[in-house]
Formats: sequence, structure tokens, C-alpha cells
Amino acid sequence: MSPQVLEQSAAPTSEQSTAISANGEFNREAFDEAVMTTYGRFPLAVDRGEGCRLWDTTGRSYLDFVAGIATCTLGHANPIMTEAVTKQINKLHHVSNLYYIPEQGELAQWITANSCADRAFFCNSGAEANEGAIKLARKYGNTVLGMKNPIILTAKASFHGRTLATITATGQPKYQKNFNPLVPGFAYIPYNDIEAAEAKIKELNAYRPSVAAIMLEALQGEGGVRPGDREYFQKLRKICDDNKILLILDEVQVGVGRTGTIWGYENLGIEPDVFTSAKGLGGGVPIGALMCKSSCDVLRPGDHASTYGGNPFVCGVATAVCKTVEKAEFLANVKARGEQLRAGLAEAIAPYGDKFVEIRGWGLINGVELSADIETTSIDIVKAAMDAGLLLVPAGPKVVRFVPPLIVTPEEIDEALKVFSGAIAQFLGK
Ligand SMILES: *Cc1c(COP(=O)(O)O)cnc(C)c1O
Repeated sequence: MSPQVLEQSAAPTSEQSTAISANGEFNREAFDEAVMTTYGRFPLAVDRGEGCRLWDTTGRSYLDFVAGIATCTLGHANPIMTEAVTKQINKLHHVSNLYYIPEQGELAQWITANSCADRAFFCNSGAEANEGAIKLARKYGNTVLGMKNPIILTAKASFHGRTLATITATGQPKYQKNFNPLVPGFAYIPYNDIEAAEAKIKELNAYRPSVAAIMLEALQGEGGVRPGDREYFQKLRKICDDNKILLILDEVQVGVGRTGTIWGYENLGIEPDVFTSAKGLGGGVPIGALMCKSSCDVLRPGDHASTYGGNPFVCGVATAVCKTVEKAEFLANVKARGEQLRAGLAEAIAPYGDKFVEIRGWGLINGVELSADIETTSIDIVKAAMDAGLLLVPAGPKVVRFVPPLIVTPEEIDEALKVFSGAIAQFLGK
């Protein structure tokens, strides 16, 4: 673009269309022209929110069972968030990690007091937290285990993010396509299959020890809402201990109350050596975190950093979120609403027999799987629900995912169930 054109476009004239016009109307064509087409978006422009409800730019309201994909822990415009955001923006929002940031220390202390971790590092997203975990595992492999080319095992159907290392870690070819060359040092195992894990470790360690870490989700979110199997994780924990392999859990989608416990791993009866968090941690402000036990705390000054990571703004807000989530009655609501939702879903799908495979989930992360033998996809159901005023999100082509804000009420669960029943009836005809 020539400087002249730039100058001209700097100030839109009254005839030019902009994504948001002077009278506040949304212009989809102008948006699509200016924003890269990396997302397949639903035709809905969101304007504002309150609690578990969102309003679009035409004023229509929706019940939000997506919550920014398991992110808006406390819903929208929650007074706890508004107060924390206001307090922090008025006091101090950003300084460099060249200096001590008290809010960062407070959040780290909350995490270490409420988890198996001894230390935390802060960054801005789930992918970045997992990148940190991968670097930590490699340094552990290089320095503690004396490996030249440490390997990290991850699961098929997993999801760990969109950076180069994390799409490589993600065991789904669709996320890797056309982005070759991928990052070396990863190998894949089927999820919840202990024999396969044992066989892979044996194979890779046959010549010399090579497996430094195993990175898994406590519950596979994007891969179809698949909870980890307790027995599998307990056996895997033992294998890791016996072979000095780090067990890394990606808690980006399930951490901070989503499953009815603070961390997803509490559902498995094990402790990871390393785990990551993001989505729900900040309730919607961008934050990621990498946690580890002191036994594998190998990163030293100069090894890793992030400009925004752990700034006073996000840490102040995340601490307010965490201190709300930790309350017994808050977590009790997550468990009770999850049970209510699963029971209602079971009732809703009962008339359709084998057109559904099953309902899966912990707390308020749940999925309903449609049979592979029918034409209807998760997107069909999600679109029909949206037309009827309920926002849901697919987890793969056959699973409809329910991840509402954790403050959801019994009445809102009932309302969602009603809309979902209507949506499935449209396709499955009863
Ligand atoms: C969403 C997600 C990520 C990626 O998080 P971003 O903040 O989008 O980078 C990583 N792992 C899991 C399990 C996720 O659900």
C-alpha cells in the first residue's frame, strides 16, 4: 500500500462503511474485509453480556453455554470482575518483570496453596503456558536426565494450542496440515490406553532413555470432552516415577473450578509434576500459567520470559476470580449444576435410542455425542440451538459441548435443556 493510500484510509469518510457505523450498527462485510479469515464464525455479533446472558448488536438475547469456551468463569459483567478490573487499572496495570510485582506473587501463592505445585510462571495464553511446559521438559531432559534429544509423548485427539510446538504436541493432523516442518521431539500415544503407553516408552527408550515427559489433558476438551480414566492415570503416574519421566497435565480448559474441583487432576487421584492453566484462570482476561513441583523447577534467569506475563492487571483480576472459585459453596454449585445438566440431557436424548452414543463430563464441562451412523452433526445442533437463543459449541464433528459460566443457576440449566431438546427434535424428529 502506498503512503498516499494509507493517508487516505486513515480517516474514513462518511460514505465508507466501517465495522461499527456511527449509529452503532454492525457491518459484517466491512468486518470480513479487514479481519483475516482464520475463524469460521457464526453470524452473530456480540454486543454486551450480563451473568450467563449475551446480547447481540440487534438487541436479541442468548443464554451463553459457551462462556468464551470455558473461559468466563464468573459470567459477564460480574461485579467481582468489574471491581477487580477497576481497582487494578486505577492503581497499576503493567510493569516489566524487571521488578517485583506483588499481585503476581499473590496469585502464585494462591495457586501453590491450592494445588500440588511449588512454583508458578505467568504468561498470556494456554498455548504459551504449554510452550513453557515443553521448554521446561526439554531442559529437564537435557540437564537432569542427560538426554541429547528428549522426547515428549502426547495423546492422539489431544489439543494443546496453535503455536508451532503446540500444534506439534496436538495429536490431530487437521491442526498440523500445511504447517510443515513441525517441531521435532514429539511422539503420540492413544489416550486412556496404558498398554500402548508402556509399549511406546519401551520402544523409544530401547537404545537409550529418550522419553523426558508425557503431556496429557486431564479431560480431553477439544478432542470430544473425554474424561481421563482414573486407573490409567494412576498407572501412568507410577510408570513416570519409575522412569523419571515428567507427567505434565494441560489443565487449560478444565482448571480453576470447571470440573467441580479446583483442578482437573483431582478427579484422577494423582498429582502431576507440571501443569498448565489459562482459559478459566482469569475469567476472561488473558492469562496463562505454568506450574511445577520444586523437584523439576529447572528454569533459571534468562531461560524464559514474557513481556505481559503476570502483570498487575491480569494477576489482580485472576486472584479475585480464584478467591471466588475456591469457596465451598461455589464449587458445590458447579457439581450440582453439572449433575442437573447430565440428568436432564440423559432424559432429553432417551427417546432417540442409538442416535446418541453417550453423555460425558465432569462438573460443568459436558459433551453429548451423536452417533457416527446418522447424518446430523454437532454443528447442526449448535446452529439450531443458537436460532432458538442458546449458545453451545461443538467439540469435534459429533460432540456438542456445554461449558456455561460456573455461576449458572438451576433455572438457566432447565432453560438450556428445553432449547436443546427442541433443537435435537428438529433433526431427529420426535
Ligand atoms: C484452549 C486450549 C489450549 C490453547 O489455549 P489458548 O489460550 O487458545 O492458546 C491449550 N490446551 C487446551 C486443553 C485448551 O483447551
